Amino acid sequence: MSRKRQRRLRAVNYSAGDSAWYRSTLLREVRAMNQDVRRTVVAVFEDNPLANPELANDANPVKLVRNALRKLASKWVNRFIDMATGVSDQLLERTTEATDRSLRASMRKEGMTVNYQFTDAMMERQEAIIAENVSLIKSIPEKYFTDVEGMVYRAVAKGGDRKMLTDELMQKFSQREGITRRRAEFIARDQVRKATSALAAVRQQAAGIKMGEWIHSAGQANPRHSHVKAGAERLEFDLSKGAYLDGQWVMPGELPNCSCSWRPVLTF
Ligand SMILES: [Zn+2]
Repeated sequence: MSRKRQRRLRAVNYSAGDSAWYRSTLLREVRAMNQDVRRTVVAVFEDNPLANPELANDANPVKLVRNALRKLASKWVNRFIDMATGVSDQLLERTTEATDRSLRASMRKEGMTVNYQFTDAMMERQEAIIAENVSLIKSIPEKYFTDVEGMVYRAVAKGGDRKMLTDELMQKFSQREGITRRRAEFIARDQVRKATSALAAVRQQAAGIKMGEWIHSAGQANPRHSHVKAGAERLEFDLSKGAYLDGQWVMPGELPNCSCSWRPVLTF
């Protein structure tokens, strides 16, 4: 058996710049959506004194607000879908560029050039990343509207005069924006890592690299014990399936809040 020579390449890096760009894109839309919805809902109640919302007349503000919310929901879900498609394409582009640059540079140091050979499975993996990304972004307005609807009805059910109701709604809308913002921030951080991890693995395999060496990055809030151990042991794993940890195959950076990474292992 011939002894193989191995070389570890530069670690996969999750770009803070990409996360910031992704986050600010999402947050801009979240802010615009919340402003639009708040303005519309508050206007309905300001224009329609709540004499008795139980009365089923045409000017019933609850009915009016329900119709308004329905229209707003379809408008904003569509806007988020449009944005998501653009954002996902751009994320793919940015990640691809960064991965390629890093791979070329570190392989050049070994006197090698990158020659990609993509398989259908690899291309499908790329498509799956985009699809998941779009569906997560779309879930932001979906969840927002479910919550806003409940919030508005609860405020109305509490009763009180117009001023009390609109004050209550203004306050609830700003709380809701905070919750939606945090969810958007989480999605941005996690998606950039997950997409980077998956795309980098695809491109490295296409370049003929089969294995990675797990890196546990310090500074994670609640690191998984198995990931810390994998990093300490410099666990080698197959780039096509990840490492078997805690009963499942995972890639570094794939699970929520995991910022683990890896060094591609080059075998001669
Ligand atoms: Zn981890």
